[in-house]
Amino acid sequence: MIDNSIITLSEKSVKTNISFLRSKFGDKVRISAVVKANAYGHGIEQVVPVFEKYGIDHFSVFYYSEAVRVYNCLAKPRSIMLMGWLSDENIKDAIEKGIEFFVFSIERLNTAIKYAKELNLKAKIHLEIETGMNRSGLDLKEFDCAIDILKENLSYIELSGFCTHLAGAESVSNHLRIQNQLLKYNEMLAQLEVNDLIPKYRHVANSAAAFVYPETRMDLVRIGIMLYGFWSSTEVFIQYINNQNNKIDPLKRILGWKSQIMAIKEVKSGEFVGYGISYLAQNNITTALIPVGYSVGYSRSLSNKGRVLIRGHRCSVIGVVNMNMIIVDISNIKQVEAGDEVILIGKQGKLEIKVSAFSDLSDELNYEILAHLSESITRTVVKK
Ligand SMILES: *Cc1c(COP(=O)(O)O)cnc(C)c1O
Repeated sequence: MIDNSIITLSEKSVKTNISFLRSKFGDKVRISAVVKANAYGHGIEQVVPVFEKYGIDHFSVFYYSEAVRVYNCLAKPRSIMLMGWLSDENIKDAIEKGIEFFVFSIERLNTAIKYAKELNLKAKIHLEIETGMNRSGLDLKEFDCAIDILKENLSYIELSGFCTHLAGAESVSNHLRIQNQLLKYNEMLAQLEVNDLIPKYRHVANSAAAFVYPETRMDLVRIGIMLYGFWSSTEVFIQYINNQNNKIDPLKRILGWKSQIMAIKEVKSGEFVGYGISYLAQNNITTALIPVGYSVGYSRSLSNKGRVLIRGHRCSVIGVVNMNMIIVDISNIKQVEAGDEVILIGKQGKLEIKVSAFSDLSDELNYEILAHLSESITRTVVKK
């Protein structure tokens, strides 16, 4: 291993997850793979071609830079949808490349039309409306205004989508709020259609909504976390699995993360290990040093809590997580040497370290742990 650690990505798991999602959604619902935040930490350049290989032809990102990275690593031109931040300077480029983007303000709509005219091309837009999340989206007044602008500029605009985002479909406590959002969405959709503006895709669902509220699937679903093999929340998983005879999780995690032992050391009983007084050796112990720390995404909140796998044994992280290193207790392992494989996430023999165990220990979301995995870590796709 040349680098401090390696992330492996399982092609077989991608295939399993995509076919499971397809079997649930049917042929009429298009899947947009959400690959923002470097494909949830998995790596855009590595994961996007694998998604494409298994039939995904629509990709969603947040930033323009991500859209360009997806654009550059696709084998064929596919739909790319930018849901977030796009500077005025980049709008022109986006239109030229055929990148679709959310429009959530009148200014952005006008800018898009201005550049589309200059280029003599159509800007492909998704009108995003405010339905109750109070994050981004056109309110009623802006929506009326947008309808008028659209009607006058149909030669420069393609209405690729009409969308909103639901405020927390992964928890039943948000049920009422989401029902209200859907009512509002449908009212505004009717208003759009009365004006002869027919969006190509109506879409509101992320992973959780697509499972908990099947009526939200509409024409397209924006699926992030489930493609990577995780349920949005335990609640969503329980709701799904309760209705199945077979209680096996149909999703497979794609990502594994491993490193190696950098050095081994004996520590005497009564000594502190690492910075400060965070860990006191209660016995004579043997420790191993691993060259990963919070700078590559191994959260500091795993100090004295994290677990890794070495030679088929679970070992505890002792002391604080450093910027580039962790120390683990290997006293219980008989034969062990520098260079031995260390599993940070994934399987070794019969044991497994799951991202969820990680997040339970550190009180972070799966999403958060994944998104923090540094882009500097080498990523490789493996077949199985
Ligand atoms: C991130 C995101 C999604 C995907 O959410 P998952 O829970 O990962 O499926 C969908 N829509 C929007 C607008 C998003 O920002």
